[in-house]
Amino acid sequence: MITRRSPFLQENMMIAAARLEPGADAAAPWQRQLSGAIRDPRQLLERLGLDARLLDGARAGHVLFEVRVPEAYLARIARQAPDDPLLRQVLPLEEETRSAEGYVLDPLEEAQHRPARGLIHKYAGRVLLIASPACAVNCRYCFRRHFPYADNSPSRAQWQEALDYLRGDDSIHEAILSGGDPLAASDRQLGWLVGELEAIPHLKRLRIHTRLPVVIPDRVDDALLGWINATRLQKVMVLHINHANEIDQTVVDACTRLKKAGVTLLNQSVLLRGVNDNVATLAALSERLFEAGILPYYLHVLDPVQGAAHFDVPDDEARTLVSRLRSHLPGFLMPRLVREVSGEASKTPL
Ligand SMILES: *Cc1c(COP(=O)(O)O)cnc(C)c1O
Ligand code: SF4
Repeated sequence: MITRRSPFLQENMMIAAARLEPGADAAAPWQRQLSGAIRDPRQLLERLGLDARLLDGARAGHVLFEVRVPEAYLARIARQAPDDPLLRQVLPLEEETRSAEGYVLDPLEEAQHRPARGLIHKYAGRVLLIASPACAVNCRYCFRRHFPYADNSPSRAQWQEALDYLRGDDSIHEAILSGGDPLAASDRQLGWLVGELEAIPHLKRLRIHTRLPVVIPDRVDDALLGWINATRLQKVMVLHINHANEIDQTVVDACTRLKKAGVTLLNQSVLLRGVNDNVATLAALSERLFEAGILPYYLHVLDPVQGAAHFDVPDDEARTLVSRLRSHLPGFLMPRLVREVSGEASKTPL
């Protein structure tokens, strides 16, 4: 199997990104948690009291896409429970090394929709900006596990190309910060970028697609709330949570801070075998999201990315699950079941 992302590349890119900023402040607590995340399969197994027989498989997967689990997320995983739904999202398995028919490196063919460096424009009215190549957690099913981030994490000077593109197209009303995880970038960098964006008159909304407030809730600190509070743009944050156990009190508190800053909170999940592939789990997730002030938005079927086939739930089963879910939840707690089909003008409902 070909991998375009070496185990240590992501780390080096984070260091490089930090160096882009002259006079960057001392690391914030969330940055220390980020750099202190578990990155060693053996340590992950030991910390959770798991069987050492899982190590060979974990190492095989780790070589393809490195382990990364922050302590704050680890704290929500049950000990000695190999089937824990949070563990399944972060522990590499031997299955990742198997190739499966139809599972490819770039399932969304995003490489074809990049009019400027760091910018993906597939849908009318909105664009994705790759604001940071790094993530705080490495999710085993991630469709970006083979993303060529080295070509797509622009420096300030290089952002001009993307900003010029946005300035030149007044049909674009929404900028979506994506990644990796955009909130892995520093607040100095993000504050600068958002300042440039809000100076573009036809932009109305700033959307942020992130898992960081979930995996390291301390990310939602005063520096982040500073630029969020300051912008004229309307703010939407789409979190990524797949199981109710991911939402502990620290996450609820982070969401409360975001809501006070005027952020609309939505969630997207991925339907994953062995994590959330049953009605009770999906219903509990929607209920728990709403307790935290978050509305369910999308439930994605898995993108067919190489190494993730063992998470797949077939379409028929997905449709049945969601139609049964409808009889358990109020309409506003129902996520939309979608797939991303390359070439389509929007996500495709199933
Ligand atoms: C998913 C996605 C969006 C956002 O789509 P919405 O349906 O508005 O949430 C925008 N651009 C790209 C490239 C996407 O993949
Ligand atoms: S946080 Fe998002 S982009 Fe990063 S590995 Fe997880 S699913 Fe992928």
